[in-house]
Amino acid sequence: MPPVTAQVLVLGGTGEARRLAAGLVAEGVEVLSSLAGRVADPVLPEGDVRIGGFGGAAGLAGWLGEHRPRAVVDATHPFAAQITGNAVRAAATTGTPLLRLHRPGWTARPGDDWRWVDSLAEAAEAVAGFGTVFVTTGRQGVGAFAGVPGHCLVRSVDPPDPELPAGTTLLLARGPFSVADEVALMREHRVDVVVTKDSGGHLTEAKLTAARELGLPVVLVRRPPLPAGVDTVATVEDALAWVRAR
Ligand code: NAP
Repeated sequence: MPPVTAQVLVLGGTGEARRLAAGLVAEGVEVLSSLAGRVADPVLPEGDVRIGGFGGAAGLAGWLGEHRPRAVVDATHPFAAQITGNAVRAAATTGTPLLRLHRPGWTARPGDDWRWVDSLAEAAEAVAGFGTVFVTTGRQGVGAFAGVPGHCLVRSVDPPDPELPAGTTLLLARGPFSVADEVALMREHRVDVVVTKDSGGHLTEAKLTAARELGLPVVLVRRPPLPAGVDTVATVEDALAWVRAR
C-alpha cells in the first residue's frame, strides 16, 4: 500500500467522527479516517479512509511513526475502550498530539425508569424477570443475553456472530430511528424492558423517549472510564477548534 499522507488521523466509526472529517475537509485539512471494519457496509466519511486494525498499540505507534500525522483525534464510540487505550499509548510513544472526542452520556428525565449496570452480563441478570427484552447493545455483545429466560428482540446493523439462540427475534436495522417508529416497534413486539449501552448522542436516543412514553424500564450499561491525562472534548466544534489551534 502506498504511504498515506494526512495531517490528521481520525479514529472513527461514529457520527461525530464523520462530522469531524467533513468539517476538516471543508477547512482544507488533509484528513484520513480509520474504521475498524466491523460493519459490512459502513457509512463512509468525507476525505480519505482506511479500514482495518493497526495491530494493537505497537502497530498504531508504528503507523504513526511511518506516516507522521500532525495530530490524532480519537472519535471512536464511548465503548470502544481498546482502541482508545491503544491511541493513548501509541500517541505517547511517538509524541503525537492526541485529542479524545467523547460525546456526553444520556441524562434521565422525569418519567424515566432507568436501571444502571456495569456490564452486559449484569444487564442480562437485570432483565431476567421480564417477558420480552429489547436488546439494542450492538451485535458484539449479544451473546451475554443467550441465557435470558424471556424472549429477546435483538436489533443490530449486521447479524450477530455467533448465531442467536432459537426463538430470538432479530431485526437488522441502522439508525437513526424516530420516536414514533420506536414506539410502534415496542408496541408491536410487546416489549417489557429495553437494554442499551450509555452511548449518548442523538442518533439512537429515540428508544429512550419511546420507553419513557410507554412507561417501560431501561437497563443502561455504564461507560468504561476515560483514560487519564488526555485532552478531551465533548463536541465536534471543540474538536475542530483543537485541530485549528495546531
Ligand atoms: P475496540 O474493542 O475498542 O477495538 C478493538 C480493536 O479493533 C482495536 O484494538 C483495533 O484493532 C480495532 N479498531 C477499533 N476501532 C478502530 C478504528 N477506528 N480504526 C482501526 N482499528 C480499529 O472497538 P469496538 O468496540 O470493537 O468498536 C469497533 C469500532 O466500531 C470503533 O471504531 C467504534 O468507533 C465503532 N463502534 C463501536 C460501538 C461499540 O458499542 N463498541 C458502537 C458503534 C460504533 P488493532 O488492535 O488491530 O488496531
